[in-house]
Amino acid sequence: MPTPQEEFNEILSQAEKFLKQERELYGEALFSGETKADMHSMSKKGEITQTIERDLFGNPVEEVTKPGKVSEPAVFRYSNEPWVAAQTLDELNSLICNCTKCPLGFTRTKFVFGVGNPKAEIVIVGEAPGADEDAQGEPFVGRAGQLLNKILEAIRFKREEVYICNILKCRPPNNREPQPEEIDACEPHLWRQLEIIKPKLILCLGRVAAQVLLKTNASLGQLRGKVHAYHGIKLMVTYHPAALLRNPNWKRPTWEDVQVFRKMYDEMKG
Ligand code: URA
Repeated sequence: MPTPQEEFNEILSQAEKFLKQERELYGEALFSGETKADMHSMSKKGEITQTIERDLFGNPVEEVTKPGKVSEPAVFRYSNEPWVAAQTLDELNSLICNCTKCPLGFTRTKFVFGVGNPKAEIVIVGEAPGADEDAQGEPFVGRAGQLLNKILEAIRFKREEVYICNILKCRPPNNREPQPEEIDACEPHLWRQLEIIKPKLILCLGRVAAQVLLKTNASLGQLRGKVHAYHGIKLMVTYHPAALLRNPNWKRPTWEDVQVFRKMYDEMKG
């Protein structure tokens, strides 16, 4: 028989798990009084989305924008810095790897620039390095990374064929979510990375990466299942592999997302 204290702890731990999953899907909006219903009705009223064409699911392709809520990083602040003109990934890496523009530069073990084919047609974007990545200096090498490798294999891509990177290049303490000032400092590095690679398709892993790139507060549910336009690059969003480790029920929808992603790639290749 569990004691009342044990029962209470169990309820607390279930509630915590539930809130974590809700946050994964809806982000901070859920905790700032903006309800799921509000978010859906905003979407319907056109405040979040603007329909432009139809995607492979037959759903409208949407350019998800919510002006004023999530700002572009202030890249002009860095426009005089040498990395802005880097012509190769190695050059860019060497120019930014000692970055201390945000506090994470002082707590990281290793700078996690990115890995893979510098001419990749596909770029996978995650959130930020975790403990394993911070120790090894390579993105997605821990448990979530192993699952990512399996997801890629399932759609017949090798890890070396694509390019894998994150919104942040340094690990946030205790794997907390990236803060606006960290994104502000780091995202321009990713922009240059993408300008050098020139991918045809981007797969965003999880709500945070998608919200940052698309400059939206829309939920993961609203962002999945659509092809987004990102500066002329087609972008799709699916669950983060770390979220799948916590909630295996999301494996099936992820499988469906990546099948569509593969189909989009095959159609692009003709
Ligand atoms: N999670 C991420 O978003 N990125 C990594 O590199 C590892 C875990």
